[in-house]
Amino acid sequence: MQPVGQFVPLLLLCLLAVALPGADGASGRFWHLTDLHWDPGYEAAAAAGRPCPSGGERTGPAGPWGSYLCDSPWSLLRSAARAMRDRLATPDFVLWTGDDTPHVPNEQLGEEKVLHIIANLTSLIKETFPGTKVYAAMGNHDFHPKNQFPGKEHRIYNQTAELWRPWLSDASLPLFRAGAFYSEKLPGPGSRGRMVVLNTNLYYDQNDETAGEEDPGGQFQWLEETLTKASRADEKVYIVGHVPPGFFEKKRGKPWFRRGFNERYLAIVQRHHRVIAAQFFGHHHTDSFRMFYSDTGAPISVMFLAPGVTPWKTTLPGVSNGANNPAIRVIDYDQDTLQVLDVVTYYLNLTRANMMSSLPVWEEEYRLTEAFQVPDGSASSMQTVLERIWRDPHYLQLYYEFNSARYDLELCKQECRVDHLCAIREVDFIKYNECVKTNSSASAAGSVWLLVFCMFLGLLSPQ
Ligand SMILES: [Zn+2]
Ligand SMILES: [Zn+2]
Repeated sequence: MQPVGQFVPLLLLCLLAVALPGADGASGRFWHLTDLHWDPGYEAAAAAGRPCPSGGERTGPAGPWGSYLCDSPWSLLRSAARAMRDRLATPDFVLWTGDDTPHVPNEQLGEEKVLHIIANLTSLIKETFPGTKVYAAMGNHDFHPKNQFPGKEHRIYNQTAELWRPWLSDASLPLFRAGAFYSEKLPGPGSRGRMVVLNTNLYYDQNDETAGEEDPGGQFQWLEETLTKASRADEKVYIVGHVPPGFFEKKRGKPWFRRGFNERYLAIVQRHHRVIAAQFFGHHHTDSFRMFYSDTGAPISVMFLAPGVTPWKTTLPGVSNGANNPAIRVIDYDQDTLQVLDVVTYYLNLTRANMMSSLPVWEEEYRLTEAFQVPDGSASSMQTVLERIWRDPHYLQLYYEFNSARYDLELCKQECRVDHLCAIREVDFIKYNECVKTNSSASAAGSVWLLVFCMFLGLLSPQ
């Protein structure tokens, strides 16, 4: 008979494994960068004292590292790449969610120029992270004419697939050529993680190619099938794309998707939320997030919108002060469950960088869990973040300053508060409009009562 004492160390080891938090999944990290918008004409224009091509008619100081009125000079992109390598040179993988070309009219671009810019940025990222898997998505500016993505094969899809070939699996290649979307298992032995990279430019309301189509490129059907299969295989999925569903938080009533596409996307997330660990998108250039709820109102999924590298001030009418400081971010995650553990955003204070003679310093802007006092980046934690910024002006202002990577430090007052909170909470068109209406009228009603109260006080006060 074996002495019982021999089993004790084994038993202790088992107990330890069960008791240790996170013992079931190691934590990993990856970069999310988006909206680099390289302006290749920046330097020449600055040297000649002309406004940068991406600035249009707007003129302002053009510093060595960029300008808030312009897209990124190469120096800024190189600096961002260096900052990423210095902070985390060997991430598990990189998410790159598109928009590479400058904000200039189509006439100043063309297929070759667009592909040339995509090729240059692809090289920069490859050289920054040699041997690292990159999941790249196309942005609405990565096409010519811009936004006009077809739901079928196209030369630009083929050429981009060639540029990204080292990052794409053999199975992804034909899919990408047919519609610029694909799905792959995450690297790592025994990984049960899956990346789903979408081409949501097909749903953009500026895209005339797909207007009137029910399921451009068959992407929705493919997404449903991919999520169903992932669920059967006990996988967890990240959904990645450029143009997000829902509304822009800096302009009231401004959605990006066509209505029908927005509804379909939302329905898919509701149906398959158990398998979706998180969603990562760009396009806004601002730092925000979107909540998804079940029919009973339980938070079921979260979409993180990453701030852009370009500082370019938007020309969208009605947006005030719509520039941002260049930013990049690291996501800490559980390699087994893909649960988001933390989001750490780094930014470059462009004003300060342009005044210094030394190399620019990318600083840590904030860590999600510390800034908002939540345990992680799960849907329920992000619901807590939303409630904090809804109720507490301190958290609202904190969120608001992060929204532009500390470019806009104005006070986020009533209108601003409603725009941001309703955009975060309601991805659905009807519910968003209700949210804006209810909260605006609540404040309007509040003002009326305040007026009545003041009049009442006025009556009482001796004059
Ligand atoms: Zn962009
Ligand atoms: Zn975009």
